[in-house]
Amino acid sequence: MTSTAIQIDAAFDSGNIEVLSIAGTTARLAIRKDTNSDFFQWFHFRVSNAAGRALELKITGLNASAYPDGWSGYNAAVSEDREFWGRASSSFDPGEDNGTLTIRYQPAGHLAWFAYFAPYSWERHQDLVASCALSAGVTHRVLGHSRDGRSIDCLDLGEGPKQVWLYARQHPGESMAEWWMEGALDCLTDPADPVGRALRRNCTFHVVPNANPDGSVLGNLRTNSLGVNLNREWENPSAAQSPEVLAIRNAMDATGVDLAMDVHGDEAIPAVFLAGFEGIPSWSEALQGGFNRYKAILDRRTPDFQTKRGYPVAGPGRANLSMSTNQLAERFGAVSMTLEMPFKDNDDLPDLAQGWSPERSAQLGRDCMAALLEWLAD
Ligand code: ZN
Repeated sequence: MTSTAIQIDAAFDSGNIEVLSIAGTTARLAIRKDTNSDFFQWFHFRVSNAAGRALELKITGLNASAYPDGWSGYNAAVSEDREFWGRASSSFDPGEDNGTLTIRYQPAGHLAWFAYFAPYSWERHQDLVASCALSAGVTHRVLGHSRDGRSIDCLDLGEGPKQVWLYARQHPGESMAEWWMEGALDCLTDPADPVGRALRRNCTFHVVPNANPDGSVLGNLRTNSLGVNLNREWENPSAAQSPEVLAIRNAMDATGVDLAMDVHGDEAIPAVFLAGFEGIPSWSEALQGGFNRYKAILDRRTPDFQTKRGYPVAGPGRANLSMSTNQLAERFGAVSMTLEMPFKDNDDLPDLAQGWSPERSAQLGRDCMAALLEWLAD
């Protein structure tokens, strides 16, 4: 048996790989493009018949991927039990086969799953929504439906006057964003958590754990099933192109927004950082001050956050209002922010076994809630 070739499958929730060739324990692979789009970067597949042998998996053509800078210094996520996600030693050669990531891993058993980041399945999303909806004081509602008919789920909780919106996975391949949601919701729904209790007294929360369920299930990096990047739709969302955004934005119009966090992952930068709304027409020092103060509090609270690395800020009047963070700051005068977690690791505090992980994403969700409580108290 051990002399036969490995097999590779990706026909499951968020699966994505094309098999070019297999020989023994080696494979040449390519990533399928997002549905109706040219973006590609997310992969998720299973290797079977490994039988404890050393695997060499080559994902080719990556110079044309959405973020070619995402591959150097990156190690693929791997799991044998689909609970614990570690990292498989990987190396990137831009000169091999138009950019090749070579993943080396020797599983203990017959099966191993590989992914761009630990996946967060639609089934687990159902479990998350179910358990939160059963918690005391939590209301669940469906804001609308995706293009393919999946629910845009929202959890509402708290009694306070501040309207806080938390939403994630506009970019479906950024699965760390929904792991972050598990941590934030764990804090907010635990009746014994003093941070959650105090936040619920001060705020009313509206939490959308997955804003792009179609893209998530399809194994896309950035788009819904129509190939639309939802985070470029916030100025003029449409029922035809971006029903997901239209549903969320209409619900925001109904409640108003005082503070918003849009949760993402970044392919290239090995750090956690926040991006704001500099460059919106209604920019003010007071609004900017609110954002800067939140950043400073989070920086003080957790070594997994930093403020040195991040995106360049837009100049005056140059903000892109089709992005949710800018749109919400402009539309509501809200302190609005984009949280970015790494696909790689936090290089200031590296974890060789797991890199950035579901566990660290969830912990950051809790820390972000604690920072919010401190921010409200000032
Ligand atoms: Zn993103």
